[in-house]
Amino acid sequence: MKCAYCQERAGWFKRICKDCQCLHELYTQQRGQLGLLQFLEVCIETGLPREKIEAFLNADPHGNGSVKDQITADMSTELLGAMGIRAQQTAQDVRRLRQKGVWQRMDEKPED
Ligand SMILES: [Zn+2]
Repeated sequence: MKCAYCQERAGWFKRICKDCQCLHELYTQQRGQLGLLQFLEVCIETGLPREKIEAFLNADPHGNGSVKDQITADMSTELLGAMGIRAQQTAQDVRRLRQKGVWQRMDEKPED
């Protein structure tokens, strides 16, 4: 089978090759702690070819965005957190809209 990340031969019944497995473990360990460039340096230290690392970072085997995008998103969340902005803000917005809908149905105005 082909590797889900780099598209190279991964071996029988394997969806990820040895090299990408190694990179993925690094990613799991470092998640939310390193920026993209720092993570790239960690990857390069493994001695794997640059093309392999690039293929891994740009791959999107689960349709959730590439590893590169996920690292960027993790760092954004970390940065927002450092500035005192909670990631749950979106959920609160949704809840506020939902409550507004309830008020309208009950013909009441929301409190200021
Ligand atoms: Zn691979």
